[in-house]
Amino acid sequence: MKISWKNLLLWSLPLIVIIFFLWQGFLVPTKNDLNSNIASSRMTYGRFLEYLDMGWVKRVDMYDNGHTAIIEAVGPELGNRVQKIRVELPTNVPELITKLKKANIDLDAHPNKNTNAIWNLLGNLLFPLVLIGGLALLFRRSNSTNGGPGQAMSFGKSKALFQMEAKTGVTFDDVAGVDEAKEEFQEVVTFLKQPECFTAVGANIPKGVLLIGPPGTGKTLLAKAIAGEANVPFFSISGSEFVEMFVGVGASRVRDLFKKAKDNAPCIVFIDEIDAVGRQRGTGIGGGNDEREQTLNQLLTEMDGFEGNTGIIVIAATNRADILDSALLRPGRFDRQVTVDVPDFKGRLAILTVHAKNKKIDNSVSLSVIARRTPGFSGADLANLLNEAAILTARKRKQKITIQEIDASIDRVVAGMEGTPLIDSKSKRLIAYHEIGHAIVGTLLKNHDPVQKVTLIPRGQARGLTWFTPSDDQSLVSRAQILSRIIGVLGGRAAEEIVFGDAEVTTGASNDLQQVTSMARQMVTRFGMSNIGPLSLENEETNPFLGRNLSSDSNYSDEIAIKIDEQIKQIVERSHQNALDIIKENRVVIDHLVDILIEKETIDGSEFRKIISKYTSIPQKYEYNI
Ligand code: ADP
Ligand code: MG
Ligand code: ZN
Repeated sequence: MKISWKNLLLWSLPLIVIIFFLWQGFLVPTKNDLNSNIASSRMTYGRFLEYLDMGWVKRVDMYDNGHTAIIEAVGPELGNRVQKIRVELPTNVPELITKLKKANIDLDAHPNKNTNAIWNLLGNLLFPLVLIGGLALLFRRSNSTNGGPGQAMSFGKSKALFQMEAKTGVTFDDVAGVDEAKEEFQEVVTFLKQPECFTAVGANIPKGVLLIGPPGTGKTLLAKAIAGEANVPFFSISGSEFVEMFVGVGASRVRDLFKKAKDNAPCIVFIDEIDAVGRQRGTGIGGGNDEREQTLNQLLTEMDGFEGNTGIIVIAATNRADILDSALLRPGRFDRQVTVDVPDFKGRLAILTVHAKNKKIDNSVSLSVIARRTPGFSGADLANLLNEAAILTARKRKQKITIQEIDASIDRVVAGMEGTPLIDSKSKRLIAYHEIGHAIVGTLLKNHDPVQKVTLIPRGQARGLTWFTPSDDQSLVSRAQILSRIIGVLGGRAAEEIVFGDAEVTTGASNDLQQVTSMARQMVTRFGMSNIGPLSLENEETNPFLGRNLSSDSNYSDEIAIKIDEQIKQIVERSHQNALDIIKENRVVIDHLVDILIEKETIDGSEFRKIISKYTSIPQKYEYNI
């Protein structure tokens, strides 16, 4: 939760009150007060007149409406030192003043108690006023970034946190690789532009469209493109903005948003991260969330409230449609659902083409090679990749982006920042054997992705890396492919064992082992690729903090659990044995490759295969079934 200014003010109010009283008590003693002017000795009025006549009085200060005077005088009785003496004056003595003036004595009259008190009060009020004023200023400033000023101190009313763009300037041409979604939205654009075509035949125009897809796949971009194509204003707010500490604020924000939208119809209302408010009601750990439910109810009410042809189309985005409240998905609300997924090869190529337009890229660079190397990248990742490459090019003071910068950027996006290479040592040798182990097992196995490069330059957490060029379709993987992958991943540890012995193996393989175990487990429990048979025994992991699916996975008996463990163990053990075999049988070429790798620090795929071909004539000769 963020600290809102409202909270800050609430907390600071008691503080202000305390400071006020402290100020009253100690900080501002009435400065001109008589009591502060300490005069220990006293003198009668008559004696004072005598002193005056003798010319011993130097100065007179009048207090208390002229009832009291503090005089400064010297005299033989006073030890010839200037002393302050208090004199009570009779009520009406105008002649005294003239007398004092005649004698040319310093005279000062101090304001009486009453005016004094007013001044004090004002002085006391000033401080809190300045404080409150300062806070109000801060409010204003924080507000003006999100919405208009002027709502600073209003507690009941919501702050306007939605943004409005009169023209988004985004068109469908800016969105690539999501052709189905675009087709679907073409219709929405027509609804906005020519609603009469639909209403004439009695068709109800849909009110809401739900965009479902992982982050960075272009959901926001698509929504903006619809507004841009239809040339209507674009209102946007993030679902998390609705969720506030104070009950009722979220609901009033929804009301405000729709009020503004109605005034500007036709328009698009875009609600990002709708799962923040739209989560299934009455779930979640730690009880329900009244505020969120109120906000959701308000949203549903608003959506029901406007008729089909007011020209407002609500587009919501989420990456978790499964946890949304079913009421949101009912007809008349978000009844259209459009999925945008991470792009495939063709999609990636199209997105790269869009983002390459405004960049200077060398002619030798083939975008399709980049697209092939980047499975799993979202549109945002690809845009970021090209941008990183452009930055790198500028840093090197080059004119055009070449494949070098692009490669470096891909590596960086995938594996993190490059580190400095290790100096030659035993551990560098061990890492070299480990990486060559992965690379050679991967290369000699059938059904394994080809090596793209092996390197000893550390990156991110890894101290050496072997890159493989992924095959195109990552979503459909065969049993043979998974097995080959498991053996390949075990190749690193296997090389360590054979070359350095059991006692010398390192912790460097822990990540590999994790991957292997997870792959083997999924073969058994999710893909039905073991002796247990085609059973789905476990669901994808679900997060208990996000709504449904609290404890629905692992619905099998203890007996099956034992079998699962046996199967996993069997797959991993046999794969390990296979990896060991390949390493043993190819020890000569491995030693040779390690020497080259230590010297050059990076070997790329084609060179790697060329070296291997000198030693063995049959590529991909190993094939195992477990
Ligand atoms: P989401 O809302 O799905 O998280 P965004 O729409 O905010 O993703 O995308 C972030 C950025 O990534 C966009 O501004 C755009 O530069 C780029 N991008 C994402 N998907 C695409 C796409 N399909 N075509 C072109 N650019 C894309
Ligand atoms: Mg977004
Ligand atoms: Zn490894």
